[in-house]
Amino acid sequence: MSVRVRYAPSPTGLQHIGGVRTALFNYFFAKSQGGEFILRIEDTDRERYSDESLQDLYDTFKWLGIEWDEGPDKGGEYGPYVQSERFGLYTKYAEQLISEGKAYKCYCSSERLDALRAEQQKDKKSQQGYDRHCRDLTDEQRAEFEAQGVKPVIRFKIPLDGKTVFHDVLLGDVKRKNTDISPDPILIKSDGFPTYHLANIIDDHYMKITHIMRAQEWLPSGPLHILLYQAFEWEPPIYCHLPMVMGKDGQKLSKRHGSTSLKDFISGGYLPEAIINYISLIGWAYDDSREFFEKADLEKLFELEKLNKAPGVFDYKKLDWFNGQYIRKLTDDALKEKIIPYLADTGNLETPPTSAQDKMLDGMIPIIKERLKLLSDVVPMTAFLFSDISGYDVADLIPKKQDEAGTKKILEIGRPIIAQLNEQSDEELEEKFKALSEESGFKLGDLLSPLRVAVTGSRVSPPLFASIRLLGLEAALERIDAAIARF
Ligand code: GLU
Ligand code: ZN
Repeated sequence: MSVRVRYAPSPTGLQHIGGVRTALFNYFFAKSQGGEFILRIEDTDRERYSDESLQDLYDTFKWLGIEWDEGPDKGGEYGPYVQSERFGLYTKYAEQLISEGKAYKCYCSSERLDALRAEQQKDKKSQQGYDRHCRDLTDEQRAEFEAQGVKPVIRFKIPLDGKTVFHDVLLGDVKRKNTDISPDPILIKSDGFPTYHLANIIDDHYMKITHIMRAQEWLPSGPLHILLYQAFEWEPPIYCHLPMVMGKDGQKLSKRHGSTSLKDFISGGYLPEAIINYISLIGWAYDDSREFFEKADLEKLFELEKLNKAPGVFDYKKLDWFNGQYIRKLTDDALKEKIIPYLADTGNLETPPTSAQDKMLDGMIPIIKERLKLLSDVVPMTAFLFSDISGYDVADLIPKKQDEAGTKKILEIGRPIIAQLNEQSDEELEEKFKALSEESGFKLGDLLSPLRVAVTGSRVSPPLFASIRLLGLEAALERIDAAIARF
């Protein structure tokens, strides 16, 4: 059997961690099996549909470097791959079910259904949901509604007894009493549009999908889908509902935990390599130890058997760590290309950078590369090279356990060593500061910290001597003098 899997998003919002994880697992499973990965757009919910979401979908996967074998933009044997372009098919199958007595037209007005719901809410014990009012209408009753021009919906007949069972690769047998399935779900809405359930299973069948990997929130739809496959006498695909994605607090990942849209991660300065690596580890593990996986590795190594039943945790800090690791793996030139837009955005760089700026960038990369977690960190980390930093508080200059007088003294005795920077190596400068520390009784850290703040405006910066070399000694000495003058 040749594996065919699909990612079937509804363009009703931005691509988020959970959706991307679903897509990646499907993609890696297809690749590892020599199968096909298909993109299908499930746009039957016209009220929630937005062009922006659709564009975001394409942008996100382009950025990730994930390509489908078949899809709206690619074509393929089983297209069109957009549900709104396949409406004829769904109606035809719904009518087939009616003629076989497996579905029926329901003429209930929304007023009737609202009243029914209100009544059921009062009496929590009674059967909830649609009361199957139209399931056994006579031909005459139907003809009367039609004559009145009432637009019906088409509902599926859920069996009144028995149970539905299906197998899930991860969860084992999933059983549900048919009386626990919400009564007689709509297949075709009164405007003629199919619902998700009908369109989804018809398309999976027609597109010869072999495995359904999707978020666990779709598990409750499983029994209904199986009943539909049975009604059509089609072989259902193999199901695998993916482990939930949680925040660190054990709650379902949501905006409360932080941003979940890929769009925000992209603009925030994450690398696609880091995102792919880290997201692939949510609910999946190769073994107990290996953490680093590039896309090409996962294309070979991904296995369904290695999915975890337990929910996966999305830890923002861990992702940041991965991102830092992947930044270190970039060549200096690649990193330079990636940080230029962030600096250009602040107005600190021209596009393209001038040749002086280009030299500055080349000098900057080696000293920031080890320190960046996000590409966007480059902006605060290098602000001292581009802009006036004198806005810091005098208090920032003063190390803990020092006072103003001590700090002034530190700056005064440190300055002459800094002044020799152009003739000295970093090691030699360090030696000089160590000697000064012994001689003056100031701790080494206390000697360097005020100088760092004086030069960079911040207590955290790339290595001090390298920073001064980039900024230029003259400018650095001026900043030190300005700091001294503030006491
Ligand atoms: N359109 C559904 C979604 O947005 C697809 C669910 C499924 O994979 O069956 O998640
Ligand atoms: Zn009805």
